[in-house]
Amino acid sequence: MTVAEERVQRLHELAREAAAACHDERAKRYVRRARRVAERHRLSLPREFERFTCDRCDAALRPGKNARVRLQDGHVVVTCDCGNQARYPYD
Ligand SMILES: [Zn+2]
Repeated sequence: MTVAEERVQRLHELAREAAAACHDERAKRYVRRARRVAERHRLSLPREFERFTCDRCDAALRPGKNARVRLQDGHVVVTCDCGNQARYPYD
């Protein structure tokens, strides 16, 4: 694993911890930093990271708190409080 990949992973962990502690703004900062590092180093973000964050507002999504999750036609639909929706196959 490269240093940049480790950094993205660490920021992902920090974002999760901040989100779990209800520090939403801090979690967003970690999410943005992880995205920036990935962009700069042309890394693709892990799927768990993509699914755990909002594309529009960078929120760390917490179902039941700042996001709603429902199943529709074999897809998982996640709606962030900002109104953004993400769909992915149920697996
Ligand atoms: Zn959002």
